[in-house]
Amino acid sequence: MLQIATMIVLLKADTESVMSEKKESLGGCLCGETRYKVVAPLRPVVACHCRQCQRSSGFHVAATSAPKHAFNLVKEQHLKWYTSSVTAKRGFCGQCGSNLFWQQKGSDDMVIFAGTLDQPTGLKMVEHIFVEDKGDYYSLNDELPKRQGFEESICFHTQ
Ligand SMILES: [Zn+2]
Ligand SMILES: [Zn+2]
Repeated sequence: MLQIATMIVLLKADTESVMSEKKESLGGCLCGETRYKVVAPLRPVVACHCRQCQRSSGFHVAATSAPKHAFNLVKEQHLKWYTSSVTAKRGFCGQCGSNLFWQQKGSDDMVIFAGTLDQPTGLKMVEHIFVEDKGDYYSLNDELPKRQGFEESICFHTQ
């Protein structure tokens, strides 16, 4: 009985260790004209290798997410949205071209590209998705799970 209780505590601790401990995070684009603030712990980072992420980022996307109610735009004068599919749009800075956000229609979460966060983020990358679409010029050699498509629980992508 005690062993089970200990295991549950350990599993819980393990899950929480990949969540950001920071309760507030800041981030923004290359030129500084698009800035945001998140007042909530961020989800662990997921790397997406789908063709849309490749085209829009130039490589692949590594992204976290936050509940929309905890997400605030601090500077947004140049923020533009591109409708990238029937179910999603991508946010980028119209002045410098940085890709910052991905949002699914009707979702309560804002997906945030991890490279735009101010350091240190306190985050960890936990998996790769859409690995079947990845570019042929790089390899995935880490120990992280590599999924075809995406898991519903991650709720990162619908194309
Ligand atoms: Zn910018
Ligand atoms: Zn993608």
